[in-house]
Amino acid sequence: MERPPFADYAFRDEDTAGRRYPEALHPYRGPFQRDRDRIIHCAAFRRLSEKMQVFTAEFGNYHRTRLTHTMEVVGVARTLGRALGLNEDFIEAAALLHDVGHPPFGHSGEAVLDLLLQNDGGFDHNGQALRIVEKLERRYIDFPGLNLSRELLEGQAYKMHKKRTAGHAPLLEIQVVDMADSIAYDTHDVDDALEIGLLRTTQMVETTLWKNAAQNVRRRWSRLEEDDFHRALVHDLIDIQISDVLRATRARLEARGIKNFSEALTEGILVAPSAEIAEQKAEAEAFLLEKVYRHPRVMSLRSKAGEWMETIFNRLADMPEQLPKRYESVLKHEGVRRAVADYLADMTDRSARLESLRAKNRSIRSPVEKISASET
Ligand code: MG
Repeated sequence: MERPPFADYAFRDEDTAGRRYPEALHPYRGPFQRDRDRIIHCAAFRRLSEKMQVFTAEFGNYHRTRLTHTMEVVGVARTLGRALGLNEDFIEAAALLHDVGHPPFGHSGEAVLDLLLQNDGGFDHNGQALRIVEKLERRYIDFPGLNLSRELLEGQAYKMHKKRTAGHAPLLEIQVVDMADSIAYDTHDVDDALEIGLLRTTQMVETTLWKNAAQNVRRRWSRLEEDDFHRALVHDLIDIQISDVLRATRARLEARGIKNFSEALTEGILVAPSAEIAEQKAEAEAFLLEKVYRHPRVMSLRSKAGEWMETIFNRLADMPEQLPKRYESVLKHEGVRRAVADYLADMTDRSARLESLRAKNRSIRSPVEKISASET
């Protein structure tokens, strides 16, 4: 299918406010294509492959990692963006960036770091993504960070202050990424939980969204084996949400007569589901929270992960000279705790776990205890 032309309300490449460190235009890549490439080539992005989304490696190897979640968000976001006539390059870069700041062990890791830094400005994964792309990544000779386009940085900053910015909306392209994030996890967390066995297909009647998707599947195929039903259900869940968001968003854009990108900024969030589907998503999310995110197996792993993170943090806070050289400047200008948090946030689940075992083992004297500790 041919790419539709930009809609009047799309943010065009030539509208960009540029970069903090001015750079000449690239001969054959637009500014956001260039941003996309910079994000993909940065170390923090690669590490997403070994960072958890909801489930850690202990749950097997079917489920999403932070990286595959990100790629699903990119896919959904580009679909929405193209159908709405928005700037797909901008959307792609923003979607690739959206979770780059996650520490190991997802929101558990984030909560621990936030607590450990409560007197030092706290920790938030959206803010950490900005630290990474503005300061911590060292890939270019002429500037620190990735020197991304201002609109990408502003979009990420909006996510950080979302709750405090009532009345002000981000660019439609950023709204699309936020929506795609929600569609992706509301779908793939069901898929992962069914596969892992934390949910059963018989429970797919317990929320309206799932029940409607299940009915669509049964209407199409009267008899399906459980595995096939599960797969068809996941496809339908995505379809229901994307079709609804497209319908509802187009109606809003038309009703408000949005003619250019800046007019959309004062109209609140326009890229959103209908009231009906929004309610159904909230119901499904509440169910997932209770039955999946707070499942005893998930919770026990989370509390262990919290202990691992705290062990490494405290050890390094006592011995900051052990931090790699690249944290020297943060250490000097922002203090030990921030430098340790930056280092820790950069780790993968696996390296954090191993590092915490090493930190623990250093304080164990008996060789017998040492062996048993390394096997836990
Ligand atoms: Mg996400």
